[in-house]
Amino acid sequence: MNAGTQNKMIKHISVRRSAIEKMLETMREFGANGWELLALWVGEIEPSGEAAHVVQAFVPKQKALTSEEGVGYFVSGETLFELNRALAETGLRLIAQVHSHPHMAYHSEADDRYAIVTAEGGYSLVVPDFGDAPADPCAWAAYQLRGQEWLELDESDVRRIFKVIE
Ligand SMILES: [Zn+2]
Repeated sequence: MNAGTQNKMIKHISVRRSAIEKMLETMREFGANGWELLALWVGEIEPSGEAAHVVQAFVPKQKALTSEEGVGYFVSGETLFELNRALAETGLRLIAQVHSHPHMAYHSEADDRYAIVTAEGGYSLVVPDFGDAPADPCAWAAYQLRGQEWLELDESDVRRIFKVIE
């Protein structure tokens, strides 16, 4: 994306606990089959460009992958195209991507390479234990894309940025 038209970085994200709980439940269902799950947090960005509200933890059509590297997910170009069209039609924006891991939460090389979020300042969250985790991003791993690199956020950053609302 052209730097001149780049959006401001989002510094605060609110998300309903019920949306997280539902996402974690789906992660656990997939996890029972040994599959990771990718969810996309879509929502509204305030005119300031600095605060966002997640409206939905959207689960795109995806294929679970198993390889010698472990497990993963694959979302087709067609699904991404449809997602972008739906976002354009509704005016909603992609706020963050969230996916589950079998055990430890971290950004793998594949996660770096195949991230759906590609905007500078974008967020990627990884939930441990196939979603058997608290409904609190502080208990997960969180990364932000800075200068084409995914940097892990420390817990105080995560606490400042993500607000779980009832
Ligand atoms: Zn991963």
